[in-house]
Amino acid sequence: MSASIISGTEISKTILSEISKEVETIKASHGKVPGLVTLLVGNSPASRSYVTLKIKTALKLGFHEVQDEQPDDISEDALLALIEKYNQDDAINGILVQLPLPKHIDEDKVLNAIDPDKDVDGFHPINAGRLLIGGNAIKFPPCTPAGIQELIVRSGVETKGAEVVVVGRSNIVGKPIANLMLQKGPGANSTVTIVHTGTKNLDTHCRRADILIVAAGVPDLVKPEWIKPGACVIDVGVNRVGERISPKTGRTIAILKGDVDFEKASEIAGSITPVPGGVGPMTITMLMKNTLKSLKYKLGLL
Ligand code: NAP
Repeated sequence: MSASIISGTEISKTILSEISKEVETIKASHGKVPGLVTLLVGNSPASRSYVTLKIKTALKLGFHEVQDEQPDDISEDALLALIEKYNQDDAINGILVQLPLPKHIDEDKVLNAIDPDKDVDGFHPINAGRLLIGGNAIKFPPCTPAGIQELIVRSGVETKGAEVVVVGRSNIVGKPIANLMLQKGPGANSTVTIVHTGTKNLDTHCRRADILIVAAGVPDLVKPEWIKPGACVIDVGVNRVGERISPKTGRTIAILKGDVDFEKASEIAGSITPVPGGVGPMTITMLMKNTLKSLKYKLGLL
């Protein structure tokens, strides 16, 4: 069997174009566009490149984008005051603090200071609680899990009654995607199992998954023989396994690998996400979707 490829790159393009159209419509009817502030503290090249991508995407969509850069030695109090300023700013619907923050700053304190109704990353305890309650209470699902659900739904995989096995229980991927998939409603209604390092017989759980979501950060953790024939495999893992020179730019680039052996798994699965080009592109896309949602809540459109 040769699995169909679930392309996050293509699905992202479709969703971004939907967002772009909605932004135009709301601008015409209400004279408002979504406002996103990206807060970058320090000068880590990796953080800068992630923020740059978010800024570019927001600008392309016609968002109001505020790029706020602060030095490495900003005090915690000064950062908290900035968050409060954006909490009060009517033109801002989403506040994105690029992580990690410098060691002298308590990340949880900063993230918890964001107004939950502008918490488009969905990490605030109030939004974690809303996700657990489910249904209409869910406002901003965390971006990577929300992207995973979109990939599953938009590739036509049946979720109702499906056995979903999630490998990993982190607060940013494992737990929230498990919560999304067990909700009673379309695109979910699955029977969910979460497995982790304390789980006995990992392989037995994986083998019965109709939808296998792997977010462990361990290259090739899931063996091809653990995959149920025809299953949908979502590989969230991003592991740097080496470097190579790009033939196009001549620059050194990382060789990335997922948590699943893509080549071998493709012969057994019904559908599968590649790494890169699978879950990766969806995260920023869902950040944009959450920022648009935040404006829609504010305008009473949701
Ligand atoms: P994390 O916080 O390190 O959590 C990893 C989880 O996997 C933990 O719950 C851990 O179990 C479990 N695990 C690790 N090794 C295992 C093993 N041998 N058997 C069973 N379970 C195992 O990682 P994360 O933040 O969730 O990220 C997971 C992966 O997804 C990483 O590769 C990350 O780079 C990638 N990621 C990608 C995106 C994206 O594409 N946009 C976004 C986020 C994350 P314990 O709890 O028992 O330790």
